[in-house]
Amino acid sequence: MPMNPFSHLTDVPEASEICDWATERGIMILAHSYQDGFLQEAAHFVGDSLELARKAAEAQPEAICFCGVHFMAETANILCPDAEVFVPDLEAGCSLADSCKAVDLIRYQDHLEQKLGARPTTIAYVNCSAEVKAAVDVICTSGNARAVVDSIPEEDPILFVPDMHLGGWLNEVTGREMILWNGACEVHELFSVDTLLVLQEENPGAITICHPECPKRVRDASDEVLGTAGMLKLVKASEGKTFIVGTEGNMIYRFEKEAPQNTYIPAPGASCACNLCPYMQLNTPEKLWAALQERGPQVVVPAELRPGAEASLRKMLEIV
Ligand code: SF4
Repeated sequence: MPMNPFSHLTDVPEASEICDWATERGIMILAHSYQDGFLQEAAHFVGDSLELARKAAEAQPEAICFCGVHFMAETANILCPDAEVFVPDLEAGCSLADSCKAVDLIRYQDHLEQKLGARPTTIAYVNCSAEVKAAVDVICTSGNARAVVDSIPEEDPILFVPDMHLGGWLNEVTGREMILWNGACEVHELFSVDTLLVLQEENPGAITICHPECPKRVRDASDEVLGTAGMLKLVKASEGKTFIVGTEGNMIYRFEKEAPQNTYIPAPGASCACNLCPYMQLNTPEKLWAALQERGPQVVVPAELRPGAEASLRKMLEIV
């Protein structure tokens, strides 16, 4: 009999039992691919931000327990206004989302409007607060960002927030000169190109894949720059390959489950082997189980932000 990798958890039911328990009570559990294996196994759906936003919008469940970070639960609440949305840990935030405050963004948009003589179209990566979503024109994810940029007329100036690395990569691949906000994800920012080059030397023939949230020096040392959905598609279509993976470490759990025919090596961080998002790690099996029973803590987007935030999200869903 295969060993249960979660057998150390004595106070919570098995992941499959949690999933069934939630189903019986009309609760849909969504888990981002950066969550640990137990949370992925307990979820009804695992995916990236776009996949989960679509699932929530299509299903319109009675309640959603979102295993991810705060802005993701906000997105689910905006797209499913009648659902109770709750999370295992309200403190699970995001350094990238925190790097762009709505008040600063609006001030900068005003400044650019004066300077350029026209207000730039603002595209926001989905990793931002509902308040920022309400202040921009359209949202994108790493998987659809290129299509969203291409949908803006060439003569229109664009402000891209909050991730400067994703924005820089988009400028490279689309030939645009978007104005970039100075934000970054602390996990992807810490990947070390020096240790990556050593790893590549030690593993000749390995294919290095990295997320566009990685800095340019890491992207330039990689074979493919892909969002998490693109990575999954590539590894599923590959046979017997070795991949060095430059994104959050838990993504490998999903690769090993859905494409076990390959070998995966996590790309190293700058100061240690830790490439896990500290915010995602706040969500634990124990907190998930408690949240399901308490149907809380809840995430509720204020009514005044909903129309603007929903409009920018819906615009993205129309484009891709
Ligand atoms: S991995 Fe980075 S962008 Fe994603 S939630 Fe964590 S801090 Fe935010």
